[in-house]
Amino acid sequence: MAAPLRLGRSAWDSLFTLLFPVQCRVCEQPLEVFTTAPVCADCLAAPQPYQGIECFRCGRFLSSGAALRGSARQGTSYCGVCRRNAVQRDGVQRNAVQHALFAFEQARSFGAYEGTLQSLIQRLKYDGYRPLAKPLGRFLAEAARRLEEQSFDLLIPVPLHPRRQRQRGFNQAALLAAEVSKFLNIPSGAKDCVRVRDTRPQTGLRAAERRKNVAGAFDVPEPERVRGRRVLLIDDVLTTGATAHACAQALRKAGARGVWVGTLARAHPARDDVL
Ligand SMILES: [Zn+2]
Ligand SMILES: [Zn+2]
Repeated sequence: MAAPLRLGRSAWDSLFTLLFPVQCRVCEQPLEVFTTAPVCADCLAAPQPYQGIECFRCGRFLSSGAALRGSARQGTSYCGVCRRNAVQRDGVQRNAVQHALFAFEQARSFGAYEGTLQSLIQRLKYDGYRPLAKPLGRFLAEAARRLEEQSFDLLIPVPLHPRRQRQRGFNQAALLAAEVSKFLNIPSGAKDCVRVRDTRPQTGLRAAERRKNVAGAFDVPEPERVRGRRVLLIDDVLTTGATAHACAQALRKAGARGVWVGTLARAHPARDDVL
């Protein structure tokens, strides 16, 4: 009697890839193991956290030269925009920065919007590989741990306009927020902030235009849900901070005690896009 065919998991995986060759959608190497999303383990492990100097306030990644010019005290650097807006008092530059600039207290991003991290975000967002939200959510939670504030009452994803969400089928920020909520054990308020005005994509717009484009686009339908709360706002990419600012404005108007921002990636604004 023939022995029953017993193939180990790796043998089945090899057979599977032989019959249905699948490439990693990021590095295009053949996938050896079938996973929930067509991305190889190397690519999932590749993104590294930013370890350079960042603006204390808005989290912009700074070159070491810019950081030196901006140092108010050891270990604290500001980008040009946040530095210009720092309050001058008694000839000493205080670390307090006016709320008029950013309605959020602080923002931090996991890494630069480039290379594998950028590809992974695009695969989640444009190809709809939702299982990627889990590993990416873990990266985002790491970014949130770099914020000065660590005690949050509510976690809110930057909302899409309902029409845009219907087209895409999901909101990537909400998928990421759901994972971060589990990692950091913060209650999620996925419906506590809504987009009431559809806006054209921010891509290609200059800083001032970006602010104008999203001004008043967000609303908090039940202010009592955010009143007095410390909110951690979640998004995939932060460029000038205009969207996070508009969202934070709506949350502050509704009575939030403070808004902090965590994003996966930091995109470099175009050279002429100074904010
Ligand atoms: Zn790969
Ligand atoms: Zn800054």
